[in-house]
Amino acid sequence: MFGSHLSIAGGMHLALEEAARLGLDCVQVFTKNQQQWSAPPLDAGAVRRWKDALGSMGWTDPGRTVSHASYLANMASADPALRAKSIDLMRQEIDRCEALGIALLVFHPGAHTTAPRADGVARIIDACAELVRGTEGYRTVLCLENVAGQGSTIGREFEELAALRAGIIEATGRPDRVGFCIDSCHAHAAGYDLSNPQGAAAMLAALDRACGLASVRVLHLNDSKASAGSRVDRHEHIGRGTIGLAGFDALVNHAAFRSIPKIMETPKGVGPDGRDHDAVNVAVLRALAARAATMPAPVNTAPDKPPSGRSAGTAPASGRAPAPRKKPRAARAAAQRTTTTGRGTIRRPRRTRSARPRKR
Ligand SMILES: [Zn+2]
Ligand SMILES: [Zn+2]
Repeated sequence: MFGSHLSIAGGMHLALEEAARLGLDCVQVFTKNQQQWSAPPLDAGAVRRWKDALGSMGWTDPGRTVSHASYLANMASADPALRAKSIDLMRQEIDRCEALGIALLVFHPGAHTTAPRADGVARIIDACAELVRGTEGYRTVLCLENVAGQGSTIGREFEELAALRAGIIEATGRPDRVGFCIDSCHAHAAGYDLSNPQGAAAMLAALDRACGLASVRVLHLNDSKASAGSRVDRHEHIGRGTIGLAGFDALVNHAAFRSIPKIMETPKGVGPDGRDHDAVNVAVLRALAARAATMPAPVNTAPDKPPSGRSAGTAPASGRAPAPRKKPRAARAAAQRTTTTGRGTIRRPRRTRSARPRKR
């Protein structure tokens, strides 16, 4: 199942109509304005229009719809007021998923800021346990998303993500209510190099060892603008970034991920040929999944704002063909810092560069 994060501007059901127009199999949405701490309750009309749209599309499987929680929440916060506000926000997110019949709620675990890391981990576990206990009878699965590791964010290493889930299960006895969302861009930026088949295999082995592939409920398929191990979270069109097609080939063709939603959070817009970037990117992924002999060249997936001096999606002024797979110098330099550990190949992060949080 391939889908994309789509806008709910104008009405939640419009995201479903857009998914149908783009020929997607699944969709991810924010169920509220993600920049606000609270939202008015969902009205009955909005819920009915959402469910009617699902019905007319034949999307009866609740696993076809994914919600992404607001980025405002930080359940790891040492500030009691901010943490309470974050738990309340997450409760609203879960309630909205339940009302809309959305089975999967993806969220970023949080950031420990100035407090010790272990305290942040414990606060996330306690908060999630409280949320699971408070929503007895709900089906919404809380999906912990791995992060690139910028700043003090928790969940960069698969072992840490696994420890969060284990703690929540220990406190609630509900393994069915908590799973993982694995983002390819975040994993790559975190140091799980996906740019080649060996790296991708090592990443999958590390993920399976730590988290168990069966507990991965959602994949976020994003290529990366930044190099492996950079800890910088910048999404790129599929096949156009530092991951490239080999990494996506390994992910989309793994049997464990066959039936789960695979959501793109790649740049939006329309290419020079008038095709939606989402349509082009999903075609690339589907071609990989079908192991098509001839891959559709992702020539029209250039970012909306191409680097100055180069035209988007067409041959550069020099007449040279675009070479999207070529590794930038930074990636080659990073490759020289690669070490192989028991957990697979990890690139040591470049410590001198400060990671900026990504704007979505
Ligand atoms: Zn993501
Ligand atoms: Zn991201």
